[in-house]
Amino acid sequence: MTQVMPILVGGEWRRGGGDVYASRYPADDSVTAELAAATAADADEAIRVADAAWRRSEWRDLAPHARAAILYRIGALIRERAEELAQLQRRDNGKPIGETRALVASAAGTFQFFAAACETLEETLTPPRGDYLTMSIHEPLGVVAAITPWNSPIASEAQKLAPALAAGNAVVVKPAEVTPLAALELGRICGEAGVPKGVVSVLPGKGSIVGDAIVRHPLVKKVSFTGGTTTGRALAAIAAQKLMPVTLELGGKSPTIVFEDADLDHAVNGVLFGIFSSSGESCIAGARLFVHEAIRAEFLERLLAKAAALRVGDPADPRTQMGPLVTAKHRESIERYVQLGRDEGGRVLAGGERPRGGIYDAGWFYKPTILDGLPNSARVCQEEIFGPVLVALAFRDEEELLAQANDSVYGLAAGIWTRDYKRAWRVARRLEAGTVWINTYKQFSISTPFTGIKQSGLGIEKGRLGILQYKHQKSLYWGLNAQPLPWAD
Ligand code: ADP
Repeated sequence: MTQVMPILVGGEWRRGGGDVYASRYPADDSVTAELAAATAADADEAIRVADAAWRRSEWRDLAPHARAAILYRIGALIRERAEELAQLQRRDNGKPIGETRALVASAAGTFQFFAAACETLEETLTPPRGDYLTMSIHEPLGVVAAITPWNSPIASEAQKLAPALAAGNAVVVKPAEVTPLAALELGRICGEAGVPKGVVSVLPGKGSIVGDAIVRHPLVKKVSFTGGTTTGRALAAIAAQKLMPVTLELGGKSPTIVFEDADLDHAVNGVLFGIFSSSGESCIAGARLFVHEAIRAEFLERLLAKAAALRVGDPADPRTQMGPLVTAKHRESIERYVQLGRDEGGRVLAGGERPRGGIYDAGWFYKPTILDGLPNSARVCQEEIFGPVLVALAFRDEEELLAQANDSVYGLAAGIWTRDYKRAWRVARRLEAGTVWINTYKQFSISTPFTGIKQSGLGIEKGRLGILQYKHQKSLYWGLNAQPLPWAD
């Protein structure tokens, strides 16, 4: 019998109060670890302890450079244990090892970046309009929650934990039920780096139980959430009742647009990377391909040749480009979408099935899939599939392109491939998206803000000022009048 792995509740490593479940390796369904889920009672305890730890001031009142030193140490410890963390995360969600190594490096960089943001953040002296001095300063919020999905663990957790800690808050992390392992290790690293006991808790478990309890808890002052739009909307409704700020990073159905003058070598590689890296399990996946009619046939031919050569397979092999999907259930949902595409009249140009034989039969693999012959209004062009499925569409001119590309409830990201910089500028400005990549795709920098518009999100993550998302603003007026205020005389 495997040992039940402890979770981090209010500074204590102990068994969660809920049902025991297994974290399984999506490549062969073997069990990596067994753990007991956190319950609503665990959440309540963790949040109370976090609130008390925060009020004790040993964290929130630490001078910024001292808090930054601890964050730098977290980054250094992540780097020291990079290989172990990358392997753990590969087991957690089946991503290829090359990708998990990059995510671990990015998590370390995130802590380093927010350490720098923390110790260099300046408050402002505002222009006084009377006999006083005015300052605008920022204070931590208290206990904040970081609720993360399964597709990029450790990087997602770092993206919330680092700025929230840098801002002087206590943080309750709720990783996705199926990918808890890297978040638990991150919790351990925070303690080892010197974050005071109780300031960070890590509570794996079901969103509808422990996630819901966290969001509703009166001592939780903000939720930063990454996940599906339906869940995000439900969570925002609870936050509205509490009048609690939320940051929501939600779904997408991003267009990637190839103009007739594009450098096709760059565009083919970029489009493939945009949709098929991470097996398409990415909110920013370039899932709708728009190619100008004049080059459509040639472009698709080149795309299909390269898509057929993608290496789908063992996530432990550094040459693997696409690992399995995260769960059997998720693969079934993708299969249903591909069937829907067929039913709607689409043609399957590539993939559209599971690979078979050998290692493929043991895990949740799916072939890179390209559909065409559908209008942008088709459900497979409108709904987020969150898998390795690209729909190929066409356009004749810029206006028609923009009308189609913007015809989506989502507004997360977009890609443009063209040699005409004026057109790139024009189109980028008119695309309804939080991020637009020009002659590149899915590049990410912690120093550049990330936001979604329309139903893709609310609020900003990343960027130097991302730290302010975890603080509230406060104004101070310092009286300089030599005489008492005259009104009462
Ligand atoms: P995904 O499709 O990526 O699983 P979800 O939105 O379902 O997206 O989940 C993202 C995160 O939100 C996970 O950690 C999940 O457990 C959590 N979650 C799901 N439902 C709720 C809820 N009702 N309240 C709070 N958190 C939730």
